[in-house]
Amino acid sequence: MHGPEIVELDEQPAGAREVPVAPVWHARLAGLLAEVSREALQGEDLEAVLRRIVDCLVRNLPVAIASIILLDDDGTHFVQEVWAGDLDLYPAELAHGWPVSVGAAGRCARTGEAQLITDVESDPDYVPGNTKVRSEYLVPIRHRARLHGVLNIESTQPDFFYPEAREVFDAIADQVAGAIHLARVVAELEAANRKLETLSMIDGLTGIANRRCFDQRLAAEWEWQSVEHRELALVLVDADSFKPLNDAHGHLYGDECLRELARLCTRFADGTDDLVARFGGEELVLLLPDRSLEAAVALGEALRRDVEAAAMRHDNSAIAPYVTVSIGVAAVTPTAARSPDRLIAAADRALYAAKAQGRNRVVAAQVD
Ligand code: GH3
Ligand code: MG
Ligand code: MG
Repeated sequence: MHGPEIVELDEQPAGAREVPVAPVWHARLAGLLAEVSREALQGEDLEAVLRRIVDCLVRNLPVAIASIILLDDDGTHFVQEVWAGDLDLYPAELAHGWPVSVGAAGRCARTGEAQLITDVESDPDYVPGNTKVRSEYLVPIRHRARLHGVLNIESTQPDFFYPEAREVFDAIADQVAGAIHLARVVAELEAANRKLETLSMIDGLTGIANRRCFDQRLAAEWEWQSVEHRELALVLVDADSFKPLNDAHGHLYGDECLRELARLCTRFADGTDDLVARFGGEELVLLLPDRSLEAAVALGEALRRDVEAAAMRHDNSAIAPYVTVSIGVAAVTPTAARSPDRLIAAADRALYAAKAQGRNRVVAAQVD
């Protein structure tokens, strides 16, 4: 006869008894794992994802507390706990993290092994979070070799963590590890992208904004000022006789002079939206919102004098024994119908005139 096997519970030796598997939890655990997998793949705000996972555990199971406790980068301290449930006894001193030498979660992190505590009262490491808790299961959250933290589940029932349930929680810890890994990769990529974006806007020689950055900011300021009906000024600065400077003193010295010119220009970009950029070669530019032509000319004149005062040696200039600059200035109240190129063209014309009139001077031009 092949009938169902009848297990005589009373005849089994004490301790070898299997905890009866409550089918209701089994069905829920399977559904829960599916839900956690879906959550883990969201890839959005990690804390929100972790919170939904622990909420889900507490909502669906005889679980009084569920938490995900995250470790710092070197794995020596718990730094964040995302939890759900009734944590009414939570010790205040743990609120800002604790070392892995403390508590059952610490034991889990130290050993790298899951910890089943069938009677919390007899476990010396158990930190009570709730008087109704009888049993606890802690699983390392590990992605490849990296331990990210611990999944902690505390039940009001002493026999809730039967083997099949533990397998589901082990699988949930794996899903959480994947979610944490995904979020960290996304965060690292975003940081790398921000760094690249910044680098792509900076001139490597002088450390000020590059032409690409200038073009973007000019377009943006043009649009903004046209809406606001406010002026926008441009000061174009070109080093005089720079080729002869390189010839006489070497290219490296020329580079140094360019860095110093950039530094001097930066001192004049003191408005919140002012920008100093390397326009190209030995030409620098100041973009000055809310500055009239007169104000920009005065600024250009002060800058020209500061460059003289810096007295950067130049043995090969027909103008002076030090580096000088010629400056072209233009200002306009932008309109959507005009192009910012008109402002650049006007400043360029003024600069050309400054060169033609003998260099080491400031000339202004009207925008047509
Ligand atoms: P001008 O007074 O008419 O402006 O004469 P100039 O010699 O400055 O003008 P030109 O346009 O003939 O030459 C610009 C020189 O600037 C040529 C180039 O060697 C130098 N230059 C451009 N970029 C750099 C740079 O990054 N470093 C150095 N050292 N020199 C540069
Ligand atoms: Mg030039
Ligand atoms: Mg020049």
